[in-house]
Amino acid sequence: MDTVARLREVENLIARAEADCDRPASSVTLVAVSKLFGPEAIRPVLEAGHRCFGENYVQEAAAKWPGLRADHPDVTLHMIGPLQSNKARDAVALFDVIETLDRESLAKELAREIARQGRSPRLLVQVNTGDEPQKGGVSPRDADGFIRQCRERHGLDVAGLMCIPPADQPPSPHFALLARIAQRHSLPILSMGMSADFAAAIQLGATHVRVGSAIFGARG
Ligand SMILES: *Cc1c(COP(=O)(O)O)cnc(C)c1O
Repeated sequence: MDTVARLREVENLIARAEADCDRPASSVTLVAVSKLFGPEAIRPVLEAGHRCFGENYVQEAAAKWPGLRADHPDVTLHMIGPLQSNKARDAVALFDVIETLDRESLAKELAREIARQGRSPRLLVQVNTGDEPQKGGVSPRDADGFIRQCRERHGLDVAGLMCIPPADQPPSPHFALLARIAQRHSLPILSMGMSADFAAAIQLGATHVRVGSAIFGARG
């Protein structure tokens, strides 16, 4: 199967998952994760009409996307990788959604850049639902306080939450936990679910699923 055939397959599986839990068709947004794939792999997906993509590295995205966007200006680009505070300027300039807001220093830098650039990417707080030391995200026990701090101290318009469950655990309890935190704060966006588990995430309320290898193949 080629990339576009796999894209269609993922779209069909998303549609089936939406129908299975009585959610409206097209209520879930597919973020096609194109990290480590070059423009030649991404172009066919753009030409097939897909417009929403996720990238993990600011530098890689800054090298790839201005050229692709010249031909497809209506692309929506999500930052889904760990974000260093010193990359906040480039990230605000490049991305439409930043999914990995997870600490005070980054909140401060993002607020500064949003004011300076007059550009407001949608912001999601990443929650480290498994409290894994090697992973980004705020601990679930700190999430309520952090969301309030982003809103009240930094004036950030937090729109939702994102998580990456531990690889060695069933993901559903993590998706359910993320959904509960979002509900407490009336946050409409839930970015959860990847190639292996997006159907389960949709059952638990994902509004955005981030799917890479099921579309682009294994990353080399
Ligand atoms: C790479 C990545 C994905 C996509 O993972 P696949 O298993 O290839 O679908 C999703 N979310 C994040 C945060 C990632 O880093």
